[in-house]
Amino acid sequence: MEKYKYELHCHTSEGSRCAKISASQMADFYKSAGYTGLVITDHFFNGNTTVPKALDWEERVELYCKGYENAKRRGGEIGLDVFFGWEFGGDFVTIGLDKEWLKNHPDLDLLKPAEYFKTVHDAGGYIIHAHPFRESPYTKVLRIFPREVDAMETVNAVNTDFENQISEYIATRYNVTKVCGTDNHVGLTKRLAAILLSTRVKDINGLIGEIKNNRHEVKEYTVSGTDENPELKEYDPFYGVN
Ligand SMILES: [Zn+2]
Ligand SMILES: [Zn+2]
Repeated sequence: MEKYKYELHCHTSEGSRCAKISASQMADFYKSAGYTGLVITDHFFNGNTTVPKALDWEERVELYCKGYENAKRRGGEIGLDVFFGWEFGGDFVTIGLDKEWLKNHPDLDLLKPAEYFKTVHDAGGYIIHAHPFRESPYTKVLRIFPREVDAMETVNAVNTDFENQISEYIATRYNVTKVCGTDNHVGLTKRLAAILLSTRVKDINGLIGEIKNNRHEVKEYTVSGTDENPELKEYDPFYGVN
């Protein structure tokens, strides 16, 4: 049976300072890699954002959404489904809510995790703990919320195998839904992750529904021959992310 491939975690240079690739190039890359769709999850205002602090909230949200909107436009031209999300505080990939919701929640970026989870869940949003066991120079404490998030990345393509294996173990023991993401900042990269579905979903809520019902597979692919990719050498997945 044909499987449909989805990316749940990627960044664009429009919205994320650490991304090396534009939204439309990212859409082209995922189309060429055989994906059906992707979720654009640029860093929110409490992460490595391109959006200036000085503007008012609505303007900031408009700018924030540029990566998604450009990818969506390109996706329409090439036949790739593009969905909206964000990465809150470098930790929580959030999906199922939209630009209007963001506009109506000024200072969302200032919320502490517990308040953030409640606000998003009350509105029907879905929270994925990205790379829960990633260690890096800016990580002083490993914080996990296995009883509060909806899912955990048990494969993050730019994490180490060690970090992913711990995540897999914890998700199994706490019975948390397992998902994956490439955390793509560059396009072609050494390893890619994909959620495989047996149906093509219409929108982000369709995608969430498949995951909630455990009708998805977590998959990773090693891409050979990418060591010579200069973009990749330049790429530091830990750069500037808080
Ligand atoms: Zn980043
Ligand atoms: Zn990310």
